[in-house]
Amino acid sequence: MPADLQLPIIEPGAPTPIEEDPLDLMDEIDRLKVEKDATILAHYYVDGEIQDVADVSGDSLQLARAATKVASGTIVFAGVHFMGESAKILNPSKRVLMPDLLAGCSLADSCPAPELRLFQDQLRAEGRTFETVAYINTTAAVKALCDWIVTSGNAREIIDRVPAEKEILFVPDQHLGRYLVEVTGRPMILWPGSCMVHEVFSIQDLLRAKRNNPGSLVIAHPECPRNILEHADFIGGTEKMRQFVAARAEPTTLLVATEANMIHPLQKIAPQHTYVPVPGIMASTGETCACNRCPHMARNTLQKVRDCLRDGRPEIVWQPHFDAAREVLERSLLK
Ligand code: SF4
Repeated sequence: MPADLQLPIIEPGAPTPIEEDPLDLMDEIDRLKVEKDATILAHYYVDGEIQDVADVSGDSLQLARAATKVASGTIVFAGVHFMGESAKILNPSKRVLMPDLLAGCSLADSCPAPELRLFQDQLRAEGRTFETVAYINTTAAVKALCDWIVTSGNAREIIDRVPAEKEILFVPDQHLGRYLVEVTGRPMILWPGSCMVHEVFSIQDLLRAKRNNPGSLVIAHPECPRNILEHADFIGGTEKMRQFVAARAEPTTLLVATEANMIHPLQKIAPQHTYVPVPGIMASTGETCACNRCPHMARNTLQKVRDCLRDGRPEIVWQPHFDAAREVLERSLLK
């Protein structure tokens, strides 16, 4: 069991945590949003009930852009740490709160800034001229070392902006990178990172689900490994997935290979379809599991959203390297 999923240890004699009524919490959050002059942004991968109390739900690109248009003094970002950082970087004057600062990202963790800097130095020492393109799922320290930031929604467009005579170093997701090499025809040096959620999809379960659901279509996120993408009828980031299901009028069974909470916005925009999450498989034991839930996103709960609104913390605090990261983010996402 990943450390993040372990149950809390309750000391003998300590009061048992009280489960609060979600409807009461939602009312309290609505009241606090007004009282504290706050806007809630929620990623499509957090629980549906958090998406329902949010002012904006979306993918990384939509939320980064939405953050720049927020009129309130405070942003509550229900997502993972690099997303809160990006919201702060693009809005230095706003207070950016997160329900849980420990909500990290295995993909961002797979590319530490010191290692990236060493590798870039090594390439330069070999006389290679390149630009570094980073998927948005990276820390601000990594963004500060890059030339471009992409999301699954704008990657092709940004890659076209890299001069043809330069090589591309793509970090951190090798699967997304490989997919982009195929769709853009640009060779790339790929950093060997990956996302724990998309890495674990089981090809056997996918094929079984296809056989048990005749006429179904597979929709997959480009962060999935190639063996899953080879069986996909549609490949796209979260927003492209929404557009795909909304454009399809005929009721269809869709096998969804991405974080399971993504089914919530899909159901909302296209309720005519049936959505089946593709199960994951544990690399360590080979057992089928619920790994298509991101344990980092799952750290966001309604209680924590209420608590951070009420208490005004935890907060993303400005760091010196945010200045360099800001230039790259603005050039890539806002221009
Ligand atoms: S689903 Fe993967 S890439 Fe997305 S936040 Fe979770 S660990 Fe990171």
